[in-house]
Amino acid sequence: MTIIHQGFSQRAGWAGDQPISYLMHKALANPELISLAAGFVDQDTLPVDLMRQAVDSLLSDRKRGQAALQYGTTVGHAPLREIALNRWREADGEPECERGIGLDQVLITAGSNELLHLLGDTLCDPGDIILVASPCYFVYLGLATNLGIRTIGVEADEQGMIPESLEDTLRQLNNIGDLPRVKAIYLTDYFNNPSTESLALERRGPIVETAKRWSRSFPIRVIEDAAYRELRYKVDDIPSLRSFDEEGDTVVVAQTFSKSFSPGIRVGFGILPPDLVAPCGAQKGNIDFGAPNFTQCVLAEVFNLGLFEEHLGNLRRGYEAKLNAMVEACDEHLAPLDGVSFTRPGGGLYVWLTLPHEVNTSAASPLFERAMDEGMIYVPGEYCYAVEGAPIAHNQIRLSFGVQSQKRIREGIAALARAVVFFICF
Ligand code: PMP
Repeated sequence: MTIIHQGFSQRAGWAGDQPISYLMHKALANPELISLAAGFVDQDTLPVDLMRQAVDSLLSDRKRGQAALQYGTTVGHAPLREIALNRWREADGEPECERGIGLDQVLITAGSNELLHLLGDTLCDPGDIILVASPCYFVYLGLATNLGIRTIGVEADEQGMIPESLEDTLRQLNNIGDLPRVKAIYLTDYFNNPSTESLALERRGPIVETAKRWSRSFPIRVIEDAAYRELRYKVDDIPSLRSFDEEGDTVVVAQTFSKSFSPGIRVGFGILPPDLVAPCGAQKGNIDFGAPNFTQCVLAEVFNLGLFEEHLGNLRRGYEAKLNAMVEACDEHLAPLDGVSFTRPGGGLYVWLTLPHEVNTSAASPLFERAMDEGMIYVPGEYCYAVEGAPIAHNQIRLSFGVQSQKRIREGIAALARAVVFFICF
C-alpha cells in the first residue's frame, strides 16, 4: 500500500509497505498457519545464555559497563570493528593489511539494512539507477524505491549474475544516455535471498572488472551483500567480491551479525572504499550518532570470551538439519509433480521453488489462497523482481526453513504440495 498524504514528503509517497508485512499479518492472524514465509532465524538457537554471560562480564567491571552505556562513536566500537575486519580478512585468506583495508574503512550500522540504506542515500539522487541481480532480496527493492532509486534487474542463473548480461545492460543504458545515472550494482553473492545460488568464483573477477570498465567520472560501485556468507553448511567458503577489487575503490561490503548471532542486537557493518568513509559517516552521524553502543560492546565481549565460533558451529549444524528436512520433503511431495523444480542450496535460509510456467504464485492467486487453506504460507517469487530489466517470473516461491521445526517444515511442504497439485492436474 502506498501512503499519499498532502502534508507528507515526496519520499513518504514513494515508500510502500514491505510486501512481507502483508504476509506476516496473515500469518499472525492465524497461528495454526505454518509460515515458510518470513526469513527469521531459528528462535531456539538465539544465544540467550551467551548474551547473559557477556552482559554479566561487561557490567561486572563498572568502568567498562558505564562506557558501554554511554553514547559511542559514529563509526562504531573500535574493538568490534577490528574483530569484524579481521574475520573478513581471514575468511578471504588475506594477511592483515594486504590490499590495505584500514580500520577506518569499517563502519558499524544498525543491521546491514541500515548500511544498504545509507549507501543508497549517499550514492543516489532520485532517478539514479542501481542494477540488481535478478531475482533480488525484495527488502532491498523496497528500500531503493523509497529513496527514489530505479532498480533494473540483470539476468542471473544458478551461478549468480551473468557477467555478459551485466555488460549488455550497461551497454544499453549507455546507448540511451543513462549510463551516468548508474551508481551501483547490488548482489547477494552468498546463498542469495531468495534464489539460493552463490555467485560462482569465476564470475567474481569479471563482475568487478565490468563495473570498473564502465565507470566514467566516478566508480560504479559493486555492493556485496554478504548476509549469508557465514551460514554455509555443505560447501566451502569462496573469496569475496571485495578480494577481486585490487584498487579497493569499487566493492562495498555489507555484512551483518543478524544471521550468525542475533538479529535483535541490530549489529551489521560495512567495509567501504576510502572515498565513501566520510560521506557515509556524515550521513550516519546526522541520523543517530552511531549504532547502539551497548549491543556493540556486548558482542565484542562475546568474541573476547571466545564464545562466538562454537555458537556459529552449533547454528550451522541446526540449520543444515532443517535444510535437509525441507529438501527431503520437497523430494517426497513436490519432485514427483510435472514441471516442478527446486534448489538444493549449500547454505542460507531458503529453498527456491519453480512451478510450471502457467501456475501463478502471487499473493492474489488462487494457489496462494489454496496454500493457506491447506495450512501454510509462502513468499510469492514475483516480489523479488525489479520492475525494469530482466523478465519477472510469476511462477516461483521462496520457502524459508529458518524458523520452523523440522516437523512443521515437513508439514508445510506437504500442505504446499496438496495445493500445487490442484493447479497442475486440473
Ligand atoms: N541482506 C539480506 C540478503 C538479508 O536477507 C537481510 C535480512 N533478511 C539483510 C540484508 C539485513 O539484515 P540485517 O539488517 O538484520 O543485518
